Amino acid sequence: MKNSRRKFLRYFGLMTGGTLLSFDYASLHAAAGKSQARSSKNKMVLQFEPYILQLRHVFTIASGSRTTTPVMLTTITFDGITGYGEASMPPYLGESHATAQSFLAKVDLSRFSSPFLMDDILTYVDQIAPGNYAAKASIDIALHDLVGKLMQQPWHRIWGLNPGHTPDTSFTIGIDKPDMVEEKTRAASSFKILKIKLGGGNDKEMIRTVRSVTQVPLGVDVNQGWKDRNQALDMIHWLHEQGVVYIEQPLSKTAVDDIAWITGQSPVPVIADEALQTPADVNKVFGAYHGINIKLMKCGGLRAAYTMVNMARTLGLKVMIGCMTETSCAVTAAAQLSPMADWADLDGNLLISNDVFEGLKIVEGRVIIPDLPGIGVLKL
Ligand code: MG
Repeated sequence: MKNSRRKFLRYFGLMTGGTLLSFDYASLHAAAGKSQARSSKNKMVLQFEPYILQLRHVFTIASGSRTTTPVMLTTITFDGITGYGEASMPPYLGESHATAQSFLAKVDLSRFSSPFLMDDILTYVDQIAPGNYAAKASIDIALHDLVGKLMQQPWHRIWGLNPGHTPDTSFTIGIDKPDMVEEKTRAASSFKILKIKLGGGNDKEMIRTVRSVTQVPLGVDVNQGWKDRNQALDMIHWLHEQGVVYIEQPLSKTAVDDIAWITGQSPVPVIADEALQTPADVNKVFGAYHGINIKLMKCGGLRAAYTMVNMARTLGLKVMIGCMTETSCAVTAAAQLSPMADWADLDGNLLISNDVFEGLKIVEGRVIIPDLPGIGVLKL
């Protein structure tokens, strides 16, 4: 333990002593120290199994309703240590058990001598096939968990982030009838901010119902549900008067000029979600939105998400760390990055009834990252 702590400090000193303030994946193998980076006679073994998440309530957003989400649970084992990962695949993103199975079957980690070769491994995984971002995230998360466990450190510490700086997380209220919205809002009384899904044709009724129960700040996610920019801007001004603090994806992701027009006049930040996926997209939304919603399942995992957070900060964009409906595995992995975010939307594990991990806690509405190595989860 002492030895690995020393190695970590040496590594961490290397990071902070240089001119780069951000973490460099390519240097990890060398920085981990000779004994940890050595070739093992053991090889990394990837395993995966399909699982179906059961949602506590029918989940309705502007694009449709569902009661389950397919996920793929992955493990990477090396030298007797197991890292856990997950691919969550809401149907509108185009991945499924079948596509994930087909992608993961192509991944051959035995070609790498050490899990510390993270940059090589994740670049290889990314090049196996285009797309498949949730499947790629399931490997990325499991590899981060494994490497963090080998280093005996949680990732927020490896990145040098202060776990005392995590934001409040929003809890999401889906589109529903007033009595259900009222009930869900009452049940979410411990949260300091709520995210309200709009775009279902009953927007003002949704907000008025929430406001009949609570005065906490609200975020609004339209999921591309509004069609007209003038009506959208009028609605944003009304929402601002109701205590709404940001608007996510008000129009179609393809309506870039209209969204830039709204952003130029909006009294609250306008956040891109569907409009961007990977680090390559951050420049594309710059200028049209005030901020971005980063999700591990969209971008391919923690490495890409970390890059996006840093790009956003460099460009002066606001950052939200979001999630899909996921087990505590992927949500807790995302929470490791949350000290860098302006907003967290890490409630995906709370929306399901059959979680198979224990991880982050929400205490009085705030994200609490477990003090455990890796991504910080225990398998139940
Ligand atoms: Mg969204």
